[in-house]
Amino acid sequence: CRCAKYSGIVEDCCCDYETVDRLNEELLHPSLQELVKTAFFRYFKAKLWCDCPFWPDDGMCRLRDCSVCECPDSEFPESFKMPHSQEDPICQEGKPQAAVDRTIDSKSFRGWTEADNPWTNDDETDNSEMTYVNLQLNPERYTGYTGPSARRIWDAIYSENCPKYPSEELCQEEKILYKLISGLHSSISIHIAADYLLDEAINSWGQNLSLMYDRVLRYPDRVRNLYFTFLFVLRAVTKAADYLEYAEYDTGNPNEDLKTQSLMRQLLFNPKLQAACPVPFDEAKLWKGQRGPELKQQIQKQFRNISALMDCVGCEKCRLWGKLQVLGLGTALKILFSVDGQEHSAQNLQLQRNEVIALMNLLNRLSESVRFVHEMGPSVERTMEGQ
Ligand code: FAD
Repeated sequence: CRCAKYSGIVEDCCCDYETVDRLNEELLHPSLQELVKTAFFRYFKAKLWCDCPFWPDDGMCRLRDCSVCECPDSEFPESFKMPHSQEDPICQEGKPQAAVDRTIDSKSFRGWTEADNPWTNDDETDNSEMTYVNLQLNPERYTGYTGPSARRIWDAIYSENCPKYPSEELCQEEKILYKLISGLHSSISIHIAADYLLDEAINSWGQNLSLMYDRVLRYPDRVRNLYFTFLFVLRAVTKAADYLEYAEYDTGNPNEDLKTQSLMRQLLFNPKLQAACPVPFDEAKLWKGQRGPELKQQIQKQFRNISALMDCVGCEKCRLWGKLQVLGLGTALKILFSVDGQEHSAQNLQLQRNEVIALMNLLNRLSESVRFVHEMGPSVERTMEGQ
């Protein structure tokens, strides 16, 4: 029975499945969907080319549905762009040189820190190789990226940097790293299944529910890890509420910027959320033992390796979303656990612009996956298990 599988408190968290589903449905999902469409949150700065230190390029970047549509200069909010550009926003798919004017950096990053995140390998100030992508034009979905190239990334992540549990030797902190990655993996698989190329000949897209069952639903621990990751990231967002409330969301369009701020407040200080799930995850219990500091350094290093592996994802669009979501997780880890390895209070928290964009877009992706599992899961399980 599905009710028994997913009832009670989400493992290692402080809220139950029913509450998470209800809050997501009524509050989080609708607000996040609006938020990620705003000008501030829809542009992500990323280094897109394969730059893998571990394996040579395997040519998967050439798959049609893998390519990323970069932002033409004209698409940017007024305050970000050069005065001369007047063209309509269009997708520049397949034209790598159609990147934006990089002088926008000085404007769009005003008011944001440039300090590196100790949990990740990405550096948003590494200008010459980076470009901006409109995430709304490049949805995370099926791309055809599969086989040995994709498999070796997941294998390297799990076997070298985040060993699978249950294993008697793993402590709670290591299990949490595994659960975060597994939850993210579930979410990626759900997005592939939710937006799948059903018939290439007629370019027909839709849901592939048997794939969703085969990759996620038939493994209850993968579903549980998805809920865990959602609550972990939600906790990071609410913990950083005082910082995020007053962060710089200026895109030069006062109405839109006010909307962004108001959506952020709705998410950060919602009385319903505070009443029903005030502390989605309790980070205070971690890193307590004698090995605490050493363990934190080890897990930070493992997570940085996972972040570096994203440069080896052989499909541009998967790499974009892989980088964004791993950066989002790294930002959640930074908020909850450390700044340069030190305990921190909300007062000295400093986030990069890209980190905040990644964090909120990751939360939105996880919220979509939780909603999908909640809405479709029971009927898909009934159908597949009745067969
Ligand atoms: P995979 O998903 O590759 O899984 C490999 C193995 O990992 C499985 O056999 C299983 O043992 C284990 N596993 C699977 N799920 C979990 C889980 N939730 N928790 C724990 N263990 C698990 N493809 C796209 O079409 N679109 C994308 O946007 C996309 N983004 C990607 C981003 C990244 C960072 C990577 C590495 C790959 C991405 N891919 C994407 C490829 C996709 O994730 C799969 O690798 C591919 O579809 C092949 O799937 P598979 O059935 O071989 O299993």
